[in-house]
Amino acid sequence: MKNLPTSEIWFVCGSQHLYGPGPLAQVADNAKQVAEALSGSKRIPYKIIFKALLTTPDEITKTCIEANSSPTCAGLILWMHTFSPSKMWIRGLDILKKPFLHLHTQFNRDLPWGTIDMDFMNLNQAAHGDREAGFIHTRMRLGRKVVVGHWSDSEVQDRIGAWMSAARAWQDWQGGKFCRFGDNMRQVAVTEGDKVAAEMKFGFSTNGYGVGDLVAKMKTVSDKAIDTLVADYADQYAIVKELRKGGSRHDALRYSARIELGLRAFLEEGDFKGFTTTFEDLHGLEQLPGMAPQRLMADGYGFAGEGDWKTAALLRAMKVMADGVGTSFMEDYTYHLSPKGHQVLGAHMLEICPSIAAAKPAVEIHALGIGGKADPIRLVFDATTGPALNASLVDMGNRFRLIVNEVTAVKAPKMPKLPVARAVWECKPDFKTACAAWIYAGGAHHTGYSTVVTSEMLEDFATIAGIEMVRIGEDTKISDFKQTLRNNEIYYHLAQGIRV
Ligand code: MN
Repeated sequence: MKNLPTSEIWFVCGSQHLYGPGPLAQVADNAKQVAEALSGSKRIPYKIIFKALLTTPDEITKTCIEANSSPTCAGLILWMHTFSPSKMWIRGLDILKKPFLHLHTQFNRDLPWGTIDMDFMNLNQAAHGDREAGFIHTRMRLGRKVVVGHWSDSEVQDRIGAWMSAARAWQDWQGGKFCRFGDNMRQVAVTEGDKVAAEMKFGFSTNGYGVGDLVAKMKTVSDKAIDTLVADYADQYAIVKELRKGGSRHDALRYSARIELGLRAFLEEGDFKGFTTTFEDLHGLEQLPGMAPQRLMADGYGFAGEGDWKTAALLRAMKVMADGVGTSFMEDYTYHLSPKGHQVLGAHMLEICPSIAAAKPAVEIHALGIGGKADPIRLVFDATTGPALNASLVDMGNRFRLIVNEVTAVKAPKMPKLPVARAVWECKPDFKTACAAWIYAGGAHHTGYSTVVTSEMLEDFATIAGIEMVRIGEDTKISDFKQTLRNNEIYYHLAQGIRV
């Protein structure tokens, strides 16, 4: 993954001095054991470190300030092994800017029924200590994830792991830079949005660059660098004969390699995490970039077509959650509406990420029919099958909304004349409900598509961001869904006040 931050989660245990130094040492030692066991689990995506046992308002505030200023701290796990009076936490939590997860666990799994005494009872007090913590979190209206169960429970670890993936994507967004070549596809509404509001809410910035700046960078690419990259293509893909070395259209492949090398240099020099292009602004480019964005996506860059910076940023976040695999820019392109089963054919003009390819992609050249440029090079493949989802981030004017539809990717029938990479899926709970719900929610035709990212990760991500998320899945019913949208209109309007 390009530009991935170093991440760690701070495990923080709350208590108080009432218990005396002996039990407090025991509490700290137990908390350290829990943090180390979690960190060592294969279900946990990156490091969890035991940070501190906190027993006073000053210690709590100091730790929250340290977390805010730590570039590596992606979030905190809070656990009240014993009772930690929550007024002590108000000052610290009020300034805490990092996400937190409240782990409601207990050091001992089983109660020692035959020997249990008041010492045991006083040491294993999360049952009420965590309720005291939960009250202040709720009283302060703090977004967080609550995970319940013994820390050795694999289901508990999965819940924590999903949140950690979301927390890392959030950390990655902070200060993240996205490059928009040109502007929006003219007149399109859903790809527009308030970039100032997005920077305030999400922490990433999007700025425009002239496509001429990219063309200038491409001109500096050496023939030798192109030779090397084209040889690399031959190792990785099935290249059609006309594009191979000595083939009649080999120069077009070399030009595509020049686009890739120029783009790569531009993005690296600008420290960008993603970018957009638009076929309506290609001045000085001979081809619409196709294979180049495909390969850059595979390296972890966020991307979307037609100036769609929100989807490019969302895709980057999803790629971080997925650790770089099985995640692509996608568009709901066309439908199969057979009475035997409705399906969506997802694709784009060119730019689908090969991280979702089921087999070795082919490198092909075909006419585009849009944009009036030379025929562009693209990677063509079918996507993998199995559970997947589509996610869309839209700007509602007074807030952002994340829309998620769980789908099942199925084997694509042969499409010998379709010259682009594609995925075929069936929507949950069913095509008609899913599409109606998506449209009622204002979901875009562009999405981040993933076979690795889960609804849980995106829900955790939306909670961290403090934005609305609506999920369309197995249990969605249209009448309830419409009511949820109506309720959310009021809730988010009131909850956010005028700070949007
Ligand atoms: Mn599009």
